[in-house]
Amino acid sequence: MGSKSYKMIDPFGRKISYLRVSVTDRCDFRCSYCMSEDMTFLPRSEILDLEELDQVASAFIAHGVDKIRLTGGEPLVRRGIMNLIHSLSRHKKSGALKELTLTTNASQLYRFADELADSAIERINVSLDTLNPETFTRLTKNGDHAQVMQGIDAAHKAGLKIKINTVALKGINDNEFDEIINWCGERGFDLTLIETMPMGDIGNLRFDHHLELSAVRKQIEKNWTLTQSQYNTGGPSRYVDIGETKTRLGFITPLSEHFCDTCNRVRLTCTGMLYMCLGQDGSVDMREPLRSDPSGKKLKQAIEDAISKKPKGHDFEIKSGINIPSVTRHMSVTGG
Ligand code: SAM
Ligand code: SF4
Repeated sequence: MGSKSYKMIDPFGRKISYLRVSVTDRCDFRCSYCMSEDMTFLPRSEILDLEELDQVASAFIAHGVDKIRLTGGEPLVRRGIMNLIHSLSRHKKSGALKELTLTTNASQLYRFADELADSAIERINVSLDTLNPETFTRLTKNGDHAQVMQGIDAAHKAGLKIKINTVALKGINDNEFDEIINWCGERGFDLTLIETMPMGDIGNLRFDHHLELSAVRKQIEKNWTLTQSQYNTGGPSRYVDIGETKTRLGFITPLSEHFCDTCNRVRLTCTGMLYMCLGQDGSVDMREPLRSDPSGKKLKQAIEDAISKKPKGHDFEIKSGINIPSVTRHMSVTGG
């Protein structure tokens, strides 16, 4: 695709520089807010192979993307994932990519921590909603809490920077925030709390567990000294510094407070669909142009077409007693 020569500006003047790649929609967990227990996964025949994922990601880098996050489903259950990571590392070495990173549930980190630490990945996001093994099993269905903790320890020891993501869930982990803050603080991990988003049918009422983070913040402020942080990743998280731990606490509030004005990202699924907004159904296919035109011209056209269609924002809504997701696909398809 040639050298980095294009810039992607969407119709609302936002520069698109961040690509999230969901490398698989499959996962070894079934977190209750993310998936239903009887999920239908995408047919394997439709999934891009790792080389194709690399080609699409590289085309985006040529268009000005300088940050890539690999996600899923669970990215570390995709066979050969380290090959993709090693291959994409060349863009970090060339300077085209500022950051290559990963979001994981940590189930496989005990196996991959050292190799990840030796790769171009410097920091990872680990999703951990509870420190309580029983709550963990209830929430994830298949999750092995001890193995996850072992994986986080291994990644920490290997020198990877870790940020913990915790979805705030009424009646599930809302009695644990102080403990989680303390646990993260002891290890020097930043923490981000996330509101549940209405994505995909999960077979139960999401509203029952929805928590507004403004209320959570008030609760946390009773025990911790929070001051507005200067830290800003350009992403949806709004940060405060925690005086006692010297770590940061972020809040992602897609429902109670929109963050679309500064959105700089698009999302590629493992079948090659590009979603321009997490909270909208609009997408553009990258697989057909990739496969039908080895010159890369059609793919370039598809990328430019997609960016010209990026919507202004999402309109997530969770209403009491109504179990209709705002978008039909699950978070595991577009990867959060
Ligand atoms: N499996 C990996 C993990 O859990 O880190 C990566 C994919 S997961 C879909 C990415 C993030 O999305 C996780 O932090 C998860 O908690 C979050 N997530 C999934 N479904 C969500 C929902 N409906 N609302 C808010 N966050 C959600
Ligand atoms: Fe799997 Fe991550 Fe979804 Fe949990 S949140 S079911 S770990 S994809």
